[in-house]
Amino acid sequence: MKNNYDVIVVGGGPGGSMAAWEVAKAGYSVCLLEKDRDIGYPVRCGEAIGEAALRQFVDPKDSWIASEITGTTLVAPDNTSVDIDFAKETGYILNRRIFDYDLSRYAANAGAEVYTKSYVKGLIIEDDFIKGVKLDYLGEPKEIRANIVIGADGLASRIGRAAGIRTQVRMKDMESGLQYSASNVDVPINKMIMYVGSNHAPGGYLWIFPKGNKFANIGIGIDGKASQHKSAKAYLDEFMDANFPNAAILTTMCGGVPCPTPMKSPIKNGLMLVGDAAHLINPVTGGGIAPAMKSGMISGQIASEAIKNNDYSEQFLSKYVKRVFKEFGNNHERLYRIKEVIHKLTDDELNGIAIKVKKIDPLKRSLGSVFKTAVYKKPSLILDVVRIFAGF
Ligand SMILES: Cc1cc2nc3c(=O)[nH]c(=O)nc-3n(C[C@H](O)[C@H](O)[C@H](O)COP(=O)(O)OP(=O)(O)OC[C@H]3O[C@@H](n4cnc5c(N)ncnc54)[C@H](O)[C@@H]3O)c2cc1C
Repeated sequence: MKNNYDVIVVGGGPGGSMAAWEVAKAGYSVCLLEKDRDIGYPVRCGEAIGEAALRQFVDPKDSWIASEITGTTLVAPDNTSVDIDFAKETGYILNRRIFDYDLSRYAANAGAEVYTKSYVKGLIIEDDFIKGVKLDYLGEPKEIRANIVIGADGLASRIGRAAGIRTQVRMKDMESGLQYSASNVDVPINKMIMYVGSNHAPGGYLWIFPKGNKFANIGIGIDGKASQHKSAKAYLDEFMDANFPNAAILTTMCGGVPCPTPMKSPIKNGLMLVGDAAHLINPVTGGGIAPAMKSGMISGQIASEAIKNNDYSEQFLSKYVKRVFKEFGNNHERLYRIKEVIHKLTDDELNGIAIKVKKIDPLKRSLGSVFKTAVYKKPSLILDVVRIFAGF
C-alpha cells in the first residue's frame, strides 16, 4: 500500500468496486479499501436485480446467477394471490458473494489496488478539503492521501459522518430487514413471491427469492415504527413456522434498509458518497445494488474529470449530484411519494385490489394494471397520484 493515490475508495461493495474500476480505466491511481477480510462477504441482501439494470454495467456471468426470474406472485393480507408474468424483462437472484468478488476483480484487472482488512477510521481534512484517510491496515495504523475520497461504505457511512454530512435516516424511512437463506423449502424456482399487509409485513413486504432447487432467500422488511411493536424476526418466524416448518436455515442476516429520498448533497470538498452511503436505494422495492453501481460509476467518472481539471471543490463535484439526480435520483423522489401512497392502503383495500386484478386476463396483467386497479378501488388515490407527478 502506497502513501498517495489519485483517488481512495472506501468500501468494497458494488458501489465501491464500480467507482474504483472507472477511475482505473481512466488511467489514474486508485486504491479500494475494504474493512472485512473478504470482498462480498458477509452478504446482507436479498440479491434480486433486473437483467436490464445489470446489463447497463456488465455482461452477467453464469456463476453470478442463482436463478432467473420470469414473474412474480403478489399475496394480499387475506392470502389472495395474483400471478404476474414479466412480459419482456427477466430478473436475477444473484450469488452476491461471487458477484461482488468479481466486480472488485474487474477493478483490480484495470489497475486498481484492492486491500481487505483495511478499516478506515477517519479522514484527513486540511483547509476544509478532504485529503485522505486514516485506517487500520492488517491491525496497523496508517494514513494515505488523495485529492478525492469516494465513500462507498454503506448504510452507516463513517466517512459521511466524519465529513460532517447528515447521514441519519428518520425512523419511518428505515426498514428493519431480516433474511434467512433456507434449504428444504418447496418454492417455484423462477418466481419471486411477495407478501403485503399488516399481518405479513407492516409498511414493507415479505419476500421469497428462489436460489435454486429447494433453496431460497426468505426475508422481511418492515418500517421502523412498526418494528417497535413487533420485531421483524417475530413476523418472519411466524411465517416460517406456518409455511416451511422443515426448513433448514443456513444463513441468518439482518440489516437496515434506508428508504428515504436521496441525500441532497452527498459531497464535500474532495469527497463523494455513493450507493447506500448516499441513501440511493429505491424507496419502494428496497433495491440498492443497481443504484450503488450507477452512482459508483458516475463518481469514478467525475473523479477523473476533477483530476484532469485539478479542481476538487464541492462546486466542481456538484456535477456528480446533478448526474445522479438526472439519471435516477429524481425518479427515486417520485418513488418515495408512491411508497407513501401505498402505505396508506388498508388491508381491506389491498384484498380488494388483489381480487379485482385476479379477474384480469393473466396475459394482460402487469404491475401497471395493479396500480390502475388500486386507483379504481380507491379514487382518493388519484389525488395522491396527481401530487406525485406534479411533485408536491
Ligand atoms: C435485508 C436486505 C435485503 C436487501 N435486498 C436487496 C435486493 O434484493 N436487491 C437489491 O438491489 N438490494 C437489496 N438490498 C440493498 C443492497 O444490499 C444495498 O443497497 C447494496 O449492497 C448497496 O451497495 P453499496 O456498495 O452502497 O454498499 P454495501 O454493499 O453495503 O458495501 C459497503 C462496503 O463497505 C465496507 N465498509 C463499511 N465501513 C467501512 C470502513 N469504515 N472501512 C472500510 N470498509 C468499510 C463494508 O464492509 C461493505 O463491504 C438489501 C438490503 C438488506 C439489508
